[in-house]
Amino acid sequence: MKFGGTSMAGSERIRRVANIVRRQQAAGHEVAVVVSAMAGETDRLVNFCREANPLYDPAEYDVVVASGEQVTSGLLAMTLQALGCKARSWLGWQLPVHTDDSHAKARIEGIDSGALLASMAAGEIAVIPGFQGLSPHGRVTTLGRGGSDTSAVAVAAAIGADRCDIYTDVDGVYTTDPRIVAKARKLKHVTYEEMLELASVGSKVLQTRSVSLAMKEGVRVQVLSSFIDDDAPAADTIPGTMIVSDEELARIQEGLDMERQLITGIAADKNEAKIILTRVPDRPGAVATIFGPLAAANINVDMIIQNVGRDKGETDVTFTVPGADLPRVQALLEAQKEAIGYNRIITDGKVAKVSVVGVGMRSHAGVASTMFRCLADRGINIQAISTSEIKISVLIDEDETELAVRVLHSAYGMDAADEAA
Ligand code: ADP
Ligand code: ASP
Ligand code: MG
Repeated sequence: MKFGGTSMAGSERIRRVANIVRRQQAAGHEVAVVVSAMAGETDRLVNFCREANPLYDPAEYDVVVASGEQVTSGLLAMTLQALGCKARSWLGWQLPVHTDDSHAKARIEGIDSGALLASMAAGEIAVIPGFQGLSPHGRVTTLGRGGSDTSAVAVAAAIGADRCDIYTDVDGVYTTDPRIVAKARKLKHVTYEEMLELASVGSKVLQTRSVSLAMKEGVRVQVLSSFIDDDAPAADTIPGTMIVSDEELARIQEGLDMERQLITGIAADKNEAKIILTRVPDRPGAVATIFGPLAAANINVDMIIQNVGRDKGETDVTFTVPGADLPRVQALLEAQKEAIGYNRIITDGKVAKVSVVGVGMRSHAGVASTMFRCLADRGINIQAISTSEIKISVLIDEDETELAVRVLHSAYGMDAADEAA
């Protein structure tokens, strides 16, 4: 069971969580619980780091930001004890959760589960702070923002859990962020592949890595709300969203005699920045001189377009990077100006990427043209496009994000039926 920040924000909510956990144990299950820091706490800690030193050491950043989860894990263990349950906390370095040493975005390499399993078998509820790990050099690491989801899936895989229930502040995965589009519909099932694409293009309900790990390890993941009544049924019967394999979904839909939706979901991401390099020489190797140094600096380039060449053997190259990396990218490109041979750098941080995702795209034509037509009808200009087998993304002005998501949601027939009925 994993509980996110909103679910852990304050003593009263932690008590609610403890009751949900206790009911699972009472139903005969052995439980491990992964918790996030209280909502807002990680942001607060990140700010302290920035104030202490804008060029902070990522290893010390991890020492600071990992503390939020330490607090909530201890508090939940105490609260469970107050309810008469046996419980103890297991910090990331105690288990340990082994990670690599990329501080602030570490990857889990393995979890020692022996002691954990023995304690659970003896009737103790294990409470594990999410987000934390231990580097090969014996230092505290963190897994990147939203990383507690990944901790939960990794723990579930390590102990061979029957299921990994992700309790959050919405009651499942919706066709798009229900806080932005009131007509978003809850999905009963989503495939790993679709959830992976949705998370990677901005649906922060699950961290992307948690989904790829679940897919790789075959962990059954369910997303559900922690804001349920005290006498609500146990999680086995709560209607959350199950993440399932493609084959499983096909079987379920066949049983229900249901047609597969063309599009499963829409996501938006405002954390991208656009860069245009003008008058880059139009010759073999030019693009490699641009992206080589960015790759070496561990910067993820997302969308790329090389415009039609101009007459004098020159071309403009447009691409996007995470907004937070923009200053570093700009510095790197300026240092390489001569080697690349471009004329000018133009940057724009006020862009957003809007993506539609669905495995139905594989077998149906016209998904892209519907998207482009629908945005054109609203006068929304498309600045870049990228696609995968089951996803189409467009880059637009940030101010038009919500409008674009709403009109696309209607255009693909995903709006929930109006309440009036
Ligand atoms: P937690 O603290 O529990 O990890 P998060 O804030 O990380 O919670 O994720 C839950 C939030 O994800 C929801 O409150 C919702 O606004 C947002 N969200 C974005 N896209 C979706 C979606 N497709 N379905 C459900 N929630 C979504
Ligand atoms: N507390 C961390 C964060 O806010 C990890 C998490 O909540 O998943 O990013
Ligand atoms: Mg989260």
